[in-house]
Amino acid sequence: MPASALIESVEEVLRPLSYARNVAWWDSQVDASDENERRRAESELAFSDALADTALFAAIEEARSGSGDPLVDRQLDLLHDLMLPHQIPDSLRGRIVELESAVEARFSRHRGVVAGAEVDDNEIKHILRLSDDPVERQDAWEAAKTVGASVADDVRELARLRNEAARGLGYRDWFALSLATDELDEEKLLATLTEADRVTAAPFGRWKAALDERLALRFGGATRELRPWHYADPFFQETPVEGSVDLDPLFAGEDIVSLARRTFDGIGLEVEGILDRSDLFPRTGKCQHAFCIDVDRSGDVRVLANVVSNHDWADTTLHELGHGVYDLGFEESLPWVLRSTHLVATEASALLFGSLAGTREWLERVLGIAPREGAELEAQLRAARVAELIVFTRWVLVMNAFERALYADPDGDLDSTWWELVARYQLLTPPEGRHAPDWAAKIHVAVAPVYYHTYLYGAIVALQLKDALDAAVGGIVDRPEAGALLQQRLFAPGQSIRWDRLVEHASGSPLSVESLARQVAVG
Ligand SMILES: [Zn+2]
Repeated sequence: MPASALIESVEEVLRPLSYARNVAWWDSQVDASDENERRRAESELAFSDALADTALFAAIEEARSGSGDPLVDRQLDLLHDLMLPHQIPDSLRGRIVELESAVEARFSRHRGVVAGAEVDDNEIKHILRLSDDPVERQDAWEAAKTVGASVADDVRELARLRNEAARGLGYRDWFALSLATDELDEEKLLATLTEADRVTAAPFGRWKAALDERLALRFGGATRELRPWHYADPFFQETPVEGSVDLDPLFAGEDIVSLARRTFDGIGLEVEGILDRSDLFPRTGKCQHAFCIDVDRSGDVRVLANVVSNHDWADTTLHELGHGVYDLGFEESLPWVLRSTHLVATEASALLFGSLAGTREWLERVLGIAPREGAELEAQLRAARVAELIVFTRWVLVMNAFERALYADPDGDLDSTWWELVARYQLLTPPEGRHAPDWAAKIHVAVAPVYYHTYLYGAIVALQLKDALDAAVGGIVDRPEAGALLQQRLFAPGQSIRWDRLVEHASGSPLSVESLARQVAVG
């Protein structure tokens, strides 16, 4: 069979299964009922079954030896990477899929308890941002970790099963297999993370010392008495109010969705269709996180969010729509396989748009604050941006090193490893005598394994894109030329170009920590 006919036949099989799986997944996230959960697991398994087809995989491997057509070769490479992790025994594959679904459902339903009452993630965040009562803060922080204890054994089992799968395919462990199928080079990744550690260590140390002084004053103790619950979110992955500028008062009572619509209108990118299909506000029984999903690669793009009127949700709404406009931006003529994005490229777009909500220009032009207020805020916003980047980078270093350790030895003393990494990279003091699987409370470890470094790569690429747009058209907000450039250079090619070359094509330079180093040095 000629390679192009082979690809067509694969698409005929995968396309409807992918659609069914995406719809079932969406349904299970907006309404975590047993029936939706059953349908999700079923459709997931059907899709996975198709990817596990050994004869089809063998045909793709054979056709890969070179068709002479770059677009055909590219599709074969992507199909190979998509199918490879599924070329494992059916029973093993079934156990992994089932366990992932079960753990994710538990995250959706779980609610922590503070002072005898069930609380959701938004309430826990609220306490950790605003409460001055250390006892209430510790309660909220501990409540955020209880889900960890309930899923930890299953997450370890998932790591064992994933490793068994990876080793059967000739890879060291699941970590190595994941990088290979994501077109990420492990040596290059580790070198980049080492560099990111090097360029952020000193700025983070200085920033954290100043933060601790302020926290000690606020909570009335010494800096050495500070513990993880004195910081403003359960994992110290975001910038605390004390280290940044509290923009929430500016967003009180604002219609976040209208602001997002207005943002994309001003850049000439259409989001009305996405918003119409989306599920945007908090509700019982619904996933508490946020995501964007391209259901059919033909325009059915949806966002799930739990929007409340604050800066965080303005950032998140823009972020998810930043994924969405990418999914709507593929060149019409691209085949189905290439109408998709690499994780790094789509995160870069999302982070680029999310960050707008913390810029002076956006606050003035879209939110409508007075220019004088904007001028007063500008220095603080820049410092906050730097803080956000260093806090985030240190957090990614924890996650990446932890997952490497998890897959190197799923039976190891992970509770200790977690706190060693948190102490080393985030400079937090572990709670005395705490022996709990706090690592398992991070949902990504269970359901988005070996993914977190793509957020850092995405953040770095977002900085590179921003520099390129500044140079080309003077910025982003209210500049349709910026939207057009992103559309042409980043979105349109889909996956017809390998992600690292696409980054270079869209931003003018290959991925490096230079832009990050420059940014954090400015602070
Ligand atoms: Zn994202």
